[in-house]
Order: sequence, then structure tokens, then C-alpha cells
Amino acid sequence: MIQLDNIVKTYNKGKNNAFEALHGISLTIQDGEMIAIVGTSGAGKSTLLHIFACIDGYDSGQYVIDDTVIGNISERKMAAIRNEKIGMVMQDFALVEGFTALENVMIPLDFARSKIRKSKKERKMIARKMLELVQMEEFMNKPVNNLSGGQKQRVAIARAIANEPSLILADEPTGALDSTTTMEIMKLFRSLNEQGKTILIVTHDKDVASQCDRIVEISDGNIIE
Ligand code: ADP
Ligand code: MG
Repeated sequence: MIQLDNIVKTYNKGKNNAFEALHGISLTIQDGEMIAIVGTSGAGKSTLLHIFACIDGYDSGQYVIDDTVIGNISERKMAAIRNEKIGMVMQDFALVEGFTALENVMIPLDFARSKIRKSKKERKMIARKMLELVQMEEFMNKPVNNLSGGQKQRVAIARAIANEPSLILADEPTGALDSTTTMEIMKLFRSLNEQGKTILIVTHDKDVASQCDRIVEISDGNIIE
């Protein structure tokens, strides 16, 4: 279970341009849920996503993921939690262009803490299995810059699930895709969800949101039901 309790986030805290972007967000995500976050531009969606992703901290409240309280922990520990518990999927795919599909999926496995890092052979095997799951196995040795947008997003999703994260976070994952490819990617998210993955999707697209189990709307830094 993943829980936010009364999270407040202020940018430029203590300065005269301080801005409170989140005013006390509480949200519980059950394991295995697929949830959409919607809201107008500037509502606080990315701010919230960055807190979920352990990219940014917060001022008050509490964020708990798998019994680990995030907040007041070192940058190093945040990075470790990000690598082990979070899978990120971005609108622009954020792949390493010169790398093959397989090399991209291996990145989070290569960066795992030495304690849990597997042998190179094993990492390769896992990456290959992830590419099978997203139906991209036949492209595994292709440089990703030669792939279509939909194919790139499949590779990015394979990378996001490589470390078996507790939570997959997607920021406008279909924002750069046509409507047919959007539906294919949503089918893929749904099938991963049916395999037990917890997924949170930030989206502007009503069709994308309506395919999730639950829609949470955020407006001016507050959740409105
Ligand atoms: P959304 O993703 O919903 O469009 P954001 O979370 O990016 O919204 O932004 C929420 C609010 O916080 C906006 O008013 C934005 O201008 C402000 N904001 C975002 N990032 C920063 C920052 N680094 N410094 C100051 N203000 C920021
Ligand atoms: Mg945003």
C-alpha cells in the first residue's frame, strides 16, 4: 500500500517568491490499483508525481511506501528507493537513444544496489523477459532511435518494470502518441495491472483516464473528488 497523508509542498520556501503548490494532499493507493490523476495545467500533478517518485521531498505530512516513510531521508537513500520501488514512464520516453532496446531495459538493473545486483547474464535474461512482456523481444538488439513512438514507449515500460517496482508512475505516457497507439499502450498497462502491478497515470486524455479503476482530480493543489 502507498499512502500520502496531508502532504504540503512549497517551492522556494522561506523566500519572498515562496509558492505552496500542494496544500495537504491525502491519497491511498491499494496494491494492484490502476489510477488516473487528472487536472488542468498548473494544478500540481507533476509536483505530486515527483513526490511519489522520490525525486522531490515535501514540507509536512507523510509519504509511506511499503512501510518505508519517505521524508528526512538522505538523497542517497531516496535514490535507492527510487531505483528499487518506482518505475517511471515519461511522455517523451526518456530512453538513451544510442542504446539498443535491451541495453535501455538493463539500465535500472545495472544501477541496483550492489547487495541486490544480479550477474550480468541474469540481468540480460531479465531485460529480455521484460521486452517479451511488452511484445518487443524481436527488436531487442535494435537501437531505440530506429523505433516508432509506440515501440519506444513499450521499451520504456519494459525498463520501468525491470526491477519489479511497487509502483509504476506514468506522466502523460500517451501524450506523444496517436489515438490507435494510445489504446495499444493502455491495453499494455491494463495487462500489467492484471498481473498485479500498481499503476498511476497522469493524463489530460479523458479516454485514457476512463480506462483506469479510479480517477483522482487535482485542482490548485487540492484533491477534489
Ligand atoms: P501540473 O503538472 O499539474 O501542470 P505542476 O505540478 O508542474 O502542475 O505545478 C504546480 C504549480 O507549482 C504551478 O503553479 C507551477 O507554476 C508551480 N511550480 C512548479 N514547479 C515549480 C518550481 N520548481 N518552482 C516554483 N514553482 C513551481
Ligand atoms: Mg505537469
